[in-house]
Amino acid sequence: MTDDQCPCGSNRKFAQCCNRYISGDKPAPIAEALMRSRYTAYTLGNVDYILATWAEEARKAINPADIIKRSKENEYINLKIISKIGGTRKHTQGQVEFAASFKSLGKHQTHHEISNFIKQDEKWYYVDGEVNII
Ligand SMILES: [Zn+2]
Repeated sequence: MTDDQCPCGSNRKFAQCCNRYISGDKPAPIAEALMRSRYTAYTLGNVDYILATWAEEARKAINPADIIKRSKENEYINLKIISKIGGTRKHTQGQVEFAASFKSLGKHQTHHEISNFIKQDEKWYYVDGEVNII
């Protein structure tokens, strides 16, 4: 798996891409990298990572069972980053707009989202997003 292309569509090997963040080697340096690694965690069913990268306030409202269900039901196909605002090393907030294609119970769908991220103690977290499932 670590030798394979990263599921996030970066055209890099998994080991040199999202795995560095998912494995806990180092935190994602920019909001986009966190977003990509969370997508990859969904493709892998890594619920622990998804929860750990959720901003604390928002995390309290999350039911892990829902994430497990989504991760199991959805077969992720690809990820496209559409736009970004802030979210670089010098920012503490960022926004990433993306479209994730997936198949759920045999049906092709696209998860379009404008996600908000914050950086606390040098780590990026997902706060919330404006989601459209098409
Ligand atoms: Zn990746």
